[in-house]
Amino acid sequence: MWQHSRHWVFDMDGTLTVAVHDFEAIKRALDIPLQHDILHHLAALPAAEAASKHAWLLAHERELATAAQAASGARELVRELHSRGYRLGILTRNAHALALLTLQAIGLADCFASADVIGRDEAPPKPDPAGLLHLAQQWQVAPNAMVMVGDYRFDLECARAAGAQALLVNLPENPWPQLCDGYAEDCSVLLGQLQATAKFS
Ligand SMILES: [Mg+2]
Repeated sequence: MWQHSRHWVFDMDGTLTVAVHDFEAIKRALDIPLQHDILHHLAALPAAEAASKHAWLLAHERELATAAQAASGARELVRELHSRGYRLGILTRNAHALALLTLQAIGLADCFASADVIGRDEAPPKPDPAGLLHLAQQWQVAPNAMVMVGDYRFDLECARAAGAQALLVNLPENPWPQLCDGYAEDCSVLLGQLQATAKFS
């Protein structure tokens, strides 16, 4: 049951932060067809062009990271888990350094060990479960003892593929009930569910 897990992994954008990535604007700026995946597209380009576009992307993302805003209840939820001594990780498509910068901007940098922040250069993108499995190994826990919290189906599918528990947050309703073990409108509601369980079990 997810309420009893002591190992929690969070997606970043749209989960701990208010989503601000404007993927269409990024694609237009980098001349990437709208239906293409940004990282896949860049990976297929000639090295020099890929390098300059990656540099542009990093600069753009650095600006977004320093201006990041915490999602509703995210700070309180993470603080509570941290104060319980739970192990916390991040699995994100952000670059590692930018993920750390983002955590700083929303006041949660002290809750995550740097090695537990898995960015796009440390693991293949979700829904591939490798990043989650990497944390399981690093933490010496079985994947089914872990919880993955995210705001998109890739987060849930990643959890499913790893054998971890999946929690969906920050959507007004749950479009993927078959993919998750829990759902909350936002992180404050999730914190409420967690605290209710602690009281009555
Ligand atoms: Mg997200």
